[in-house]
Amino acid sequence: MDYDVIIGLEIHAELKTKTKMFCRCDNDAEGKAPNTVVCPICLGHPGTLPYPNEQAIRWTILTGLALHCQVNQLSKFDRKNYFYPDLPKGYQISQYDLPLVYNGWLEVNGQKIKITRIHLEEDTGKLIHPADKPYSLVDYNRAGTPLMEMVTEPVIHDAATAKKFCQRYQQILRYLNISDADMEKGQMRCEANVSVQEKGKWEYVDGEIKPKGDYQLNPKVELKNINSFKAVEKAIEYEIKRQIRALENGEKLVQETRGWNETKGETVRQRIKETSADYRYFPEPDIPPLNISAEMIAEIKTHLIELPPEKKKRFIRQYNFSDEVAEILVSDKHLADYTEQVISELRAWIEANGDSWERQKNKLAKTAANWLISELFKHLKADNKTIRDLNITPENFAELVALVYQGKINSSAGQKILEVMYTRGGDPTDIMAELGLEQLDDEAELEKIIKDVLARNQKQVEQYRSGKTNVLQFFVGQTMAATRGKANPKKVIEILKKLLT
Ligand SMILES: [Zn+2]
Repeated sequence: MDYDVIIGLEIHAELKTKTKMFCRCDNDAEGKAPNTVVCPICLGHPGTLPYPNEQAIRWTILTGLALHCQVNQLSKFDRKNYFYPDLPKGYQISQYDLPLVYNGWLEVNGQKIKITRIHLEEDTGKLIHPADKPYSLVDYNRAGTPLMEMVTEPVIHDAATAKKFCQRYQQILRYLNISDADMEKGQMRCEANVSVQEKGKWEYVDGEIKPKGDYQLNPKVELKNINSFKAVEKAIEYEIKRQIRALENGEKLVQETRGWNETKGETVRQRIKETSADYRYFPEPDIPPLNISAEMIAEIKTHLIELPPEKKKRFIRQYNFSDEVAEILVSDKHLADYTEQVISELRAWIEANGDSWERQKNKLAKTAANWLISELFKHLKADNKTIRDLNITPENFAELVALVYQGKINSSAGQKILEVMYTRGGDPTDIMAELGLEQLDDEAELEKIIKDVLARNQKQVEQYRSGKTNVLQFFVGQTMAATRGKANPKKVIEILKKLLT
């Protein structure tokens, strides 16, 4: 039997506002003792009144605008009622039928993935289950943190695209500087709704999955407890296989919530899914409806910046980068900005030399990207650092690229210079002089050295002349050793070939 996979995503992100969603408590509780960043409002004491955080509302609208959503100019908060010890009030203030924004899209791998809605709610506290203890502990420091929930339509059909969507969404939140969206820290939580349906037996009707004829749709399973992008992909892949296997064995699937167990690499039943009726949503009586004016929306729009999908397209168009290179360079706003600063320095340098930027830019930009991604990243990754920790100015990095580009240094000398620059910053031309790494380019001088090498290795010269041409690499190695790695390898090969024929 052939199956279609249908995936929808729900992504929660904690907003990094100064204060919590409905009170004045500090929203940054990192490193603070449990239950010290709390007040009667976020603890839900009787008689207190919640007061919505305007910054959180603005940032949710901003995210919506970034994802091509429409804004509900009349929006409101609702109570979602359920009992769980991490929820001090016995209900969560969320949004039900009038989310702040709705109906948008985000392009991933060429597919415009539809976004149903983005709404704002408050986060819960954290439950801690000490090992071997007959009790649980609760920390309410996180209770009341602004939490933005984004929901996609069920239009994703493979695990890799779902993972890519989550990555792209994280990049956008970081570009907008509204959430650190670190999955390991729980600042961003991805949940996936996964179902499998027999091919040809279902269709989309107004965005919803409907059966054709008398086919019975298989229920969807909600996957939770996913703590990394890799886990998004692995959990969905596991779930697809599990569901198909169950169907092939004649089992009936149930609508349920399953948690991803990273160690075992499998999903485990948590509970049979409740429906929204179980939550008895009703309008939050303590917060008046929100009126969002056209002026406010226009003002928020002015905070939109170029985001990764558009930046990637522009990088490819403007600098002729490959898809893969552009994807890496736009993944972090600071890296993208740094790249453009380096390129702009290179352009100034080319034009100061009276050359044409248009003629040189593709090759130069490619060299710059290559040095950033292949060489600089090696150092950053080894030290677990990002471009923000970098000690090298874009001017100096561009100069290094220019030295390589002009052939003043070869790539191994470039790597040595970069290592020094990475450790203590500095001007690459000075470091080159200091280390005596300037490439030996002078043909007469190279010829003299090479003649000497050949004279010392007569046996190999005869081998080469009798047809063993791979001895050439031996001569290149000898010449590089004789020049302490400074010889221009391209010229060495040219001269060798000339002298050996
Ligand atoms: Zn509080």
